[in-house]
Amino acid sequence: MKAKKSLGQNFLQDNNVIDKIVNSVDVSEDDLIIEIGPGQGALTKKLKNKKASLIAFEIDERMHECLDQLVDNKTTIIFEDILSVDLNKLLTEKKYNKLYVVANLPYYITTPIIEKLINLDIKIDSMVVMVQNEVADRFCAKPKTRDYGYMTVLLNAFYKVEKLFIVKNTCFIPAPKVDSAVIKFNLKEKNFDYDKEKFKKLVSLSFAHKRKTLKNNLPDDIWKKIVPYLVDKDISLSVRAEELSTDVYIDFSNLV
Ligand code: SAM
Repeated sequence: MKAKKSLGQNFLQDNNVIDKIVNSVDVSEDDLIIEIGPGQGALTKKLKNKKASLIAFEIDERMHECLDQLVDNKTTIIFEDILSVDLNKLLTEKKYNKLYVVANLPYYITTPIIEKLINLDIKIDSMVVMVQNEVADRFCAKPKTRDYGYMTVLLNAFYKVEKLFIVKNTCFIPAPKVDSAVIKFNLKEKNFDYDKEKFKKLVSLSFAHKRKTLKNNLPDDIWKKIVPYLVDKDISLSVRAEELSTDVYIDFSNLV
């Protein structure tokens, strides 16, 4: 089957890598795994051995040929665009203990998918996803580095983010131009004490123009509310967004 570049189809061929990804998913029989983009079923086949319930979303109808045979009483394949699926509704109707996401993500929509997942009303306990290595570096970046940005803060506020290993581009057919990395996200226990929407808006405003100072990015009314905090913590009033840790943003969102 010819891979469709427009759908980000780079199929995993290396059994060691497939095993390493599947072994990073610690699920029990009463858990639910959502797989995004099962493709020809490289991960799906081995995920099934975990005996958890599995729902996979694949956009390419040609994959019926590989995926239909994997369907059973615990495995469902839904041929739909993951970005259009009402996951809140679907998950509310399901019974499970913990919720996992596993994916070798289509690179052209990595960020919209991740944003959709962290914006869900229902919490995902753990995610093991493969993304381009440079995207992985952005997700795991430390403050005051070039890669640190809006997505870093957002993800690290909700999840403990860990880069597990790099996957060489030669492990895929067709081989993408760059290497990939597998990242694991584990939900932080204490992460719904603050208003999620307010938090996202604040972080997005703070990083709106990377070269500007925080003061110049934030509306006056918000800035005034956080000045006493900055003074108290001995943080310069000309600080830039990328110099502040996720915890500082969480503190901000409780102030504004
Ligand atoms: N999981 C397989 C593997 O590891 O070999 C395939 C991974 S491939 C990088 C990405 C898969 O996502 C492809 O099968 C592609 O058709 C599917 N895909 C692309 N866009 C999608 C979307 N919007 N919704 C669901 N699946 C999508």
